[in-house]
Amino acid sequence: MSNKKLTTNEGEPVYNDQASITTGSKEGYTLLQDSHLLEKLAHFSRERIPERVVHAKGAGAFGYFEVTHDLSKYTRAKFLEKIGKKTEVLARFSTVGGERGSADSARDPRGFALKFYTEEGNYDLVGNNIPIFFIRDAIKFPDFIHTQKRNPITNLPDPNAFWDFMSLTPESLHQATFLFTDRGTPQDFRHMDGFSSHTYLWYTEDEEYVWVKYHFKTTLGNKTLTAEEAEKLAGENPNHATEDLYVSIQNGEYPQWDVYVQIMTNEEAMEYEFDPFDITKVWYHGDYPLIPLGKLVLNKNPTNFFNQIEQAAFSPSHFVPGIGPSPDKLLQGRLFAYEDAHRYRLGINHSQIPVNHAKNAEISTNQRDGYMNMDEENPYPNYYPSTLGGPKPDISFKPPVFELDAVLDRHTRPTEDVDFVQVGEFYRRVLDDKNKNNLISNILGHISNANENLQYRQCALFYKADVDYGTRVAEGLKLDFSKVKELAEMSQEDRVKATLN
Ligand code: NDP
Repeated sequence: MSNKKLTTNEGEPVYNDQASITTGSKEGYTLLQDSHLLEKLAHFSRERIPERVVHAKGAGAFGYFEVTHDLSKYTRAKFLEKIGKKTEVLARFSTVGGERGSADSARDPRGFALKFYTEEGNYDLVGNNIPIFFIRDAIKFPDFIHTQKRNPITNLPDPNAFWDFMSLTPESLHQATFLFTDRGTPQDFRHMDGFSSHTYLWYTEDEEYVWVKYHFKTTLGNKTLTAEEAEKLAGENPNHATEDLYVSIQNGEYPQWDVYVQIMTNEEAMEYEFDPFDITKVWYHGDYPLIPLGKLVLNKNPTNFFNQIEQAAFSPSHFVPGIGPSPDKLLQGRLFAYEDAHRYRLGINHSQIPVNHAKNAEISTNQRDGYMNMDEENPYPNYYPSTLGGPKPDISFKPPVFELDAVLDRHTRPTEDVDFVQVGEFYRRVLDDKNKNNLISNILGHISNANENLQYRQCALFYKADVDYGTRVAEGLKLDFSKVKELAEMSQEDRVKATLN
């Protein structure tokens, strides 16, 4: 029990918190002079900040990352420099499309966001539980998300918008297929893998570089929910994954992931059969095996959810020396968009909020002021160059130079046969009969609510990836199979023309 005295925000002791100051006990008017009442009401109506436009519902915890294998020959990142080195970490897991009060069991990718508090500044890895994404150019992102959210007129989820966009964007097929397997409804946050999804750059002090993808494999094994189980949980306990994470950590059952990377040289990247920077593709394990790097353990619950999780500001643009971006066109947009979202949600000084503060690195910038600035003392000049003692750049941190011979354009990338190859491999080689059955039935449960012309257009894409896949969805929808086959053989442009209504 706390023996603390109640005070106002300014620290004045409060002598009565049950009655406003009024002109009488029954008919009395309330006085404007009651600044305690005014402060209470005014603060209350400002308690909410804008929820994240995506990944609004989430849960998080603290822990550490430990290096178990020395890969320092590929990167100068200090936190990866030697076996046994531990770095404090914040993790946040989330659904994507739902609002802050939505169900944890929704069919949706799960965000897998990490902040490493390294001695060279905070490094954020903002991934998902699925190694690929629906689109490969950031310019499509707002449209894509609009189709996954509520219809602006009805305020209801809109299966027509969902399948219209998917079928007009065939690069989405790989991720859409993952999403409709039971991995689209993970049992909770502990029993799922995480992926950087994007390709990143690792470089050394000698400016040697490679491309990497990160994989976080849960040591508890992947566990999933069936559509029926997910639906039931959404009604009975919409916070089940949030609760599971909190309670398991509270009970000392610390979730753990083994961390691996895939590594590709630039020469290999030029030759690989798939564009290694296209986020709708994986690098096959057989081509680029998982190389062990470390482990991630979560062992501490937040003590204030709003301060530490709701205000957590992850951004893929938060790098440390030794790690950088790749020319992945979705990543390039995210480098801007995440930081920008935090400027909007939390303000320009969001990196001063304790959970976002680079607590293991010294910070000295020439930025000053702005809303909610809490920089206590900074006696140095606030400009560069300066001979009066301001902070100076250090050329020894320069990353490798990339020479480009470029053509500037809005390079439209048409759908190609290669966009269907990995989907087919996934369906045929990875999914067993039970997983295939659940995939088909999960798709049917959703697409049966869309218009028939959209069903035809999308089914033709399933068919292009794998004949059995397309056939089974078409049968489930009772579509004319010869028409599906005919549509599958058309170019995307003709297919769209043939399925306008
Ligand atoms: P492998 O055949 O070596 O391994 C299959 C991969 O699929 C494993 O990562 C496995 O994860 C994952 N997986 C197994 N069952 C499911 C499921 N029901 N839903 C989603 N993922 C599942 O993979 P390849 O590298 O040869 O790639 C083959 C296909 O596998 C790819 O086209 C891609 O679609 C998919 N895949 C590839 C990944 C990669 O990074 N290369 C990652 C995940 C999937 P686990 O070991 O945890 O069971």
